[in-house]
Amino acid sequence: MISDKMQIQVKNSSVIRAMFEEGKKLAEVYGAENVYDFSLGNPSVDTPEDVKKAILEILDTIDSAGIHGYMNNSGYEEVRDAIAKSINEKYATAFNHENIIMTVGAAGGLNVIFKTLLNPGDEVITFAPFFGEYRNYVANYEGVLVIVPANTTDFQPNLAAFSEQITPRTKAVIINSPNNPTGVVYSEETIIKLAHIMREKQKEFGIAIYLISDEPYRELAYDNIDVPYLTKYYENTIIGYSFSKSLSLPGERIGYLVIPNEVADSEDVKAAANIATRILGFVNAPSLFQRVIARCLNAKVEVAAYNQNRELLYNALTSFGYECIKPQGAFYLFVKTPIADDIEFCSLAKQKNILVVPGSSFGCPGYIRIAYCVAYKTIENALPGFKTLIAELS
Ligand code: PLP
Repeated sequence: MISDKMQIQVKNSSVIRAMFEEGKKLAEVYGAENVYDFSLGNPSVDTPEDVKKAILEILDTIDSAGIHGYMNNSGYEEVRDAIAKSINEKYATAFNHENIIMTVGAAGGLNVIFKTLLNPGDEVITFAPFFGEYRNYVANYEGVLVIVPANTTDFQPNLAAFSEQITPRTKAVIINSPNNPTGVVYSEETIIKLAHIMREKQKEFGIAIYLISDEPYRELAYDNIDVPYLTKYYENTIIGYSFSKSLSLPGERIGYLVIPNEVADSEDVKAAANIATRILGFVNAPSLFQRVIARCLNAKVEVAAYNQNRELLYNALTSFGYECIKPQGAFYLFVKTPIADDIEFCSLAKQKNILVVPGSSFGCPGYIRIAYCVAYKTIENALPGFKTLIAELS
């Protein structure tokens, strides 16, 4: 009785989630400590203490309607003002609450913006490898996801191919840096070139092309690397931000969109995104957590813990002979599989109780993604399995 569209969805249901379920089953059989589950990007570092303090303080000091009530569909004005002020201080921008729409995580925000922008058949371009859910988010509004093939040399976007793939139906380009699954941060040089290509194509086709920057990993960057703030490079930029990873709050579903005044039809886009939030059924982003994050805009998770995991995993795997780029951000390592078939490699890894996700899920076969947001000990214990695997396959 379920809809035809949902039948397809159920059939193609996320490989990553399937792995997660598989991990739980293996843990029941072998014991959790003997299963090395690197499948899901679920933050392993504790939520900052400031978050707990803020929750308690809010519950103690604000009346019930002010914590749990409905508000403007775009969110509390004072929360949006606090966010705008914080962005302005960090990136020398000039936003106010009208440029901010509170969202139900990044996923909610991306759905709101695609609902706002896409007509059936409109094209959204992304760069492989990419977060696989983009397929679903774009399909939700009958858009067409156009995938630019990966540049496997350094995993910066393949700009030559990109330029060829823009058409008069291109409505938006979605990028994600620091990137899931590669951990690569798109360089300023890349961003400048990307913006130049998009401006030229806007002129050539007489259209507006929105750049959507999906940024749940902005705060998870290593070695003081700069993550460019994209509204400064390209006027039609919309930012999708999330606190899921930056404050280890994925279950609370809180994030925001930034819609600058400079974007094409800015007033219409802001008004439509407000209505999209309502009619998609969110109504508004969770009210308590809007108030919480407004008080925690300078709070930070222990990025150092992810960094230790990154160093351990990268150094060990490369010493065993695996090929990969050292991630500059996020908490993923994207590793070339020693055999061409990444799905087969994942099955072989599973026989050693190691759960990883095939690169095909990210539009980039021949690789695996290892989510290293796990305990340090889990990585240490999994290393012998990774070593034996590559030895057996060589
Ligand atoms: N975008 C990317 C690139 C992600 O990796 C994720 C989650 O892993 C999301 C969006 C969704 O994040 P959220 O929990 O904020 O909806």
